[in-house]
Amino acid sequence: MSEFDFLNGIDEVAPTPILIAPQPVLRQVAREVRPEDMALLRDQLPGMFSAMYKAPGIGLAAPQVGLGLRFALVDVTDEDKERAPMVLINPEIIEESEQLAAREEGCLSLPNQYAEVVRPESVRVRYRNLLGDTCEREVSDLLATCIQHEMDHLDGILFVDHLSAIKRNMIMRRLAKEQKRR
Ligand SMILES: [Zn+2]
Repeated sequence: MSEFDFLNGIDEVAPTPILIAPQPVLRQVAREVRPEDMALLRDQLPGMFSAMYKAPGIGLAAPQVGLGLRFALVDVTDEDKERAPMVLINPEIIEESEQLAAREEGCLSLPNQYAEVVRPESVRVRYRNLLGDTCEREVSDLLATCIQHEMDHLDGILFVDHLSAIKRNMIMRRLAKEQKRR
C-alpha cells in the first residue's frame, strides 16, 4: 500500500467546501493530531484533495474546511506534470534560512486576493506522514512558501496578517464586497 493510493480517481470525488474569510474557524489555533484522529483524517483527505485540485490550489490546511486539527496538504507541481502530493501531520519548522524571499501569495479562503509576502527562503520541516513515519525535509522556493503559508493556517494566521494593516484592510474589504456580489 502506498501513501497516496486514495488519489486514484480523485477527480470524481466531491470537493469539500472551503471556508471563506472572515469565517471565525480560520482564526482558531488547531490542535495536534492524535492517533485516534487518523480515521477521521483519512476520511477527509479525498474530499480535501479534490477541493484543492479543482480550485486549483497548491495547498489546503484542515482549518480551511472547518477541521481544527494540525494537518495540511500541499502539491506545488504544475497541472500538466505528474502530481506530487504531501500530507503534513503535526508539522513543525525546525530551521529557517536567514535569507528571505518575497513571493506573491493567494489563498483558497481569500479567493482572487493576492499580495507579496516576505518569508524565509528555505525551511527545514518535521512532520508525520500518513504512514506514521516522522519525516524531515529541507524545502525552498515555492514549496517553502506554500508550507509556511499552510502552517500559518494551523495557528489561525492568514497571509494578509504579514502585510501592513492598510493593505490587509483593503484586501479584506475587497473580499467582502466580492463575496456579497456572488
Ligand atoms: Zn491559505
